[in-house]
This record gives sequence, C-alpha cells and structure tokens, in this order.
Amino acid sequence: MHEYSLAHSLLEGLLEHLSAHPVEGRIVKVHVRQGELLILSQEALKEAWRILTEGTPVAGSELEIEQVPVEVRCPGCGYQGDARYLAEEGWHQAIPILACPECGAQVEIVAGRDLAIDALTVEGPSGPPAGQD
Ligand SMILES: [Zn+2]
Repeated sequence: MHEYSLAHSLLEGLLEHLSAHPVEGRIVKVHVRQGELLILSQEALKEAWRILTEGTPVAGSELEIEQVPVEVRCPGCGYQGDARYLAEEGWHQAIPILACPECGAQVEIVAGRDLAIDALTVEGPSGPPAGQD
C-alpha cells in the first residue's frame, strides 16, 4: 500500500515538526501538496491518514490535498519553471515533457514528485468547540 507509506512519512514529519514547534489548540486540517507526477489515490491517502493518526496528537485531523504542477530546471540554458506538456484531445491528462522549452535539452525535475505538508489549520482554544461534522 503505497498510500500508507506516504501517509506514514507525512505523519512522522508532522509529529517531529510539532515536537519542535508545538501549536496551541487542535489541528483540524493538514494541507498537503501533491506533485502531479506522484500517482496516488487521494481517497486511500485520506483513509490511511485517518487510521494512522489514531491515538496521536493529530487524531481527527483531515488531509486537504492540493495538486501542484511539475517544475523543471535545465542544466543546459538555466531555464527553470513550468514543464512543457504533451496533450492531445481525448486524453484525460496532459503529460509533462522532460525536454527544455527553451533549448530542448533534457531537464531535471525540481518539483512535482513529492508529497509535502504545506500548512496546518488549527482550531484555537478560544475557537469553536470540537464537535461533530
Ligand atoms: Zn534549456
């Protein structure tokens, strides 16, 4: 289960972060950025998160997943930015091309393959009481 190991490393990173930088209140949402080259089931990831966070300080929090585009860097001409996409009618998804839009050299992927925590939504002690949805 790919999503389980992804959720597990997210959780480990988050707990480590929280032990160094504790927050006041309850974490209700964990915003993560999913690189578009990372293939996963968001449903499975959220489900894994629900199960893995049980009994931890972030139990009950929800994952909010945002997809981010691929970013590339060209060792040839120094271009850095969006990848070029190959898209044809009828395709469900555009496919990033690993060739430089400027000079055609092979580029390195600098973003778009990872899953990373971006922000946390915290319900403060003075905020609305934790209740049912
Ligand atoms: Zn280039």
